[in-house]
Amino acid sequence: MTTPTLDVVQIPVLEDNYVYLAHDRASGQTAVIDPAVADPVLAEAARRGWRISHILNTHNHGDHVGGNKAIQEATGCRIVGFGPDAERIPGITDRVQDGQRVSVGSAVAEVIFVPGHTRGHIAYWFAADRALFCGDTLFALGCGRLFEGTPQQMWPSLQRLRSLPDEARVYCAHEYTASNLRFALTVEQDNAALRERGERVTALRARQQPTVPSLLGEEKATNPFLRADRPSVAAAVGLPPDDPVAVFAEVRRRKDVFR
Ligand code: ZN
Ligand code: FE
Repeated sequence: MTTPTLDVVQIPVLEDNYVYLAHDRASGQTAVIDPAVADPVLAEAARRGWRISHILNTHNHGDHVGGNKAIQEATGCRIVGFGPDAERIPGITDRVQDGQRVSVGSAVAEVIFVPGHTRGHIAYWFAADRALFCGDTLFALGCGRLFEGTPQQMWPSLQRLRSLPDEARVYCAHEYTASNLRFALTVEQDNAALRERGERVTALRARQQPTVPSLLGEEKATNPFLRADRPSVAAAVGLPPDDPVAVFAEVRRRKDVFR
């Protein structure tokens, strides 16, 4: 199926999490991506008259699976997660692997294995809708912390996401963009696209508007973690330009201690 069929709704919960509903207009089936909590998700689906048929989990952290059990109890939905992480995904019914396809009615997502933030992190790519649900791997102007993975794993994971089309909408799981922006400007002060984007981000946040989703094309042009193979980024962290893993590791290390 190459026709777009999804309506995506963003639900802000907790401090800075985003939960998503992805509703397939053709079949009426609806997926929840990374329910941190249950009640606001069930309420939003009910308000729209959408029947929740699936939960798609990107990884096992509590702010991504916390609502699994209550939503499953209320709806009887299937729960999709990474097979090798099954014991850490509450209520999992469908164990998926890299490259596998997941259907939500007529909408089809490809599972992309992107270890680094956790050892079992996956992303869901709905190609026909140009919708990427990437959890805590790629953020607007940032990337996830390396809790269980290494730069040697995370850099290829980010490269896989970077290989998707510029028009892909990046539905990440947190609103971290303002602080990511402050850090990104310490890496590439002279990046005109970053400065221009920074003005838009600042204006949106001043009105408490979401900066997510972004377009993957703008991440490619402005997100320092996707740009570790750029000479400008290597130079900014004082490393030679021929070792992107080392550059990525150093940019990530600097962000870890940035305040
Ligand atoms: Zn996480
Ligand atoms: Fe998270």
